Amino acid sequence: MKYCFLAFLFIVLSCTQRKNGSVDTSQQAIQKVIVMQPLGSFKIEQSQKVFAAIKTINPKVVLRPNIPFPENSYYKPRNRYRADSIIKSLKNNIGKDSVIVGLSNSDISTTKNEIKDWGVMGLGYKPGKACVVSDFRLSVTNKNQQFYKLVLHELGHTAGLPHCKIKTCLMRDAEGGNPLDQEKSFCKDCKSFLKNKGWQLI
Ligand SMILES: [Zn+2]
Ligand SMILES: [Zn+2]
Repeated sequence: MKYCFLAFLFIVLSCTQRKNGSVDTSQQAIQKVIVMQPLGSFKIEQSQKVFAAIKTINPKVVLRPNIPFPENSYYKPRNRYRADSIIKSLKNNIGKDSVIVGLSNSDISTTKNEIKDWGVMGLGYKPGKACVVSDFRLSVTNKNQQFYKLVLHELGHTAGLPHCKIKTCLMRDAEGGNPLDQEKSFCKDCKSFLKNKGWQLI
């Protein structure tokens, strides 16, 4: 009888352990596939550079060939493209486990409070499946580095991150300026948020 009881106890324990183990694996987040979509005449050399940089934090990244800007996104009065129309169109071009980032050399804009057409460096759903970035407002000297930071910022929004108060964090609000050179990396909290979403950040 005593043996029976011990054997029973052992079985219960081993089941519990296996259960705990399987819970851990199912909670392990898997990062979405990042689809990079150059728009219009976006320079191929530039998209390859940012593609290689993104690959270091997510090997599941795809660089698509250039496509024209969505037809309804052109805003003639200011000769620029509506970021909100672009992301609305892009989000329909990917699978459910992907997130897409549009790359633009042209200026992009959105509506901000009372301002109907406000120029921006980037725009992304929070959380969401699509974002768009433009290098038009970036400094000429270190454009590639700033552009990479900008892509990470918008992808951070799509992963669900809001703006961050820490001045050196990549999720800082640009507030109409360009603070990218002061931004160093994701802060501790933003980093751990993204790591929980499967981002391979060091
Ligand atoms: Zn932002
Ligand atoms: Zn932060």
